[in-house]
Amino acid sequence: MKIALDGPSGAGKSTLAKNIAKRLSIVYVDTGALYRSIGLYVMRHGVDKDDTKKIIPMLKNVNLTITFIDGEQRVILNGEDVSSLIRTGEIAMYASAVSAIPEVRAFLLETQRKIARENDVIMDGRDIGTVILPDADVKIFLLASAEARAKRRYEELKEKGEECTYEQVLSDITKRDTNDSTRKIAPAIPAPDAIFLDNSDFEPEDTLEAALNIIKSKVGK
Ligand code: C5P
Repeated sequence: MKIALDGPSGAGKSTLAKNIAKRLSIVYVDTGALYRSIGLYVMRHGVDKDDTKKIIPMLKNVNLTITFIDGEQRVILNGEDVSSLIRTGEIAMYASAVSAIPEVRAFLLETQRKIARENDVIMDGRDIGTVILPDADVKIFLLASAEARAKRRYEELKEKGEECTYEQVLSDITKRDTNDSTRKIAPAIPAPDAIFLDNSDFEPEDTLEAALNIIKSKVGK
């Protein structure tokens, strides 16, 4: 079974995907972690996130793999587990910038398709239903208002002890929305056969039940 879960930043894709994966005993693949890892690599090398000319040749030195430890995805960048390091607001902005580079997307395409070939998956990202898994059994486009998403992300970052304000988080989310939905390559737009799920006013359990109903209606599970 292949489930594509797309939608804007902070809509709750990873929480939903984790819950679905547990419920259906399938593998959860967080594709944003791949873009974030490239963002981290670029940042560590002191290269500007918008310096496409410098970033493209750097890709040949990037070896990125995904492994699963106790069902949890870990991203290995040139032998180092960077899974925790990539979860900052700064890296998210790097990820958003590098993900608009066609060469970066091409570089990550096969990694993503290979995992889906080898496993039953729920894969979350921006272009899973449109580009990575156009033949997915179910495609869900998860939405929430920018304010609802910023509030959740702000609370998440605060809990982790990251210095930030709600206004900054909202501004970053809006900026990422614009970057991600207006870029020429693989914009974060719903596949024509995706089913919309707006969870602005939902608790995670409500979102899970709604998504499971969508899945059931498509594949009878
Ligand atoms: O989902 P997450 O916030 O971790 O993604 C970080 C960034 O990576 C997003 O803002 C988006 O620009 C990019 N991304 C993407 N395609 C995906 C997953 C993430 O372009 N499939």
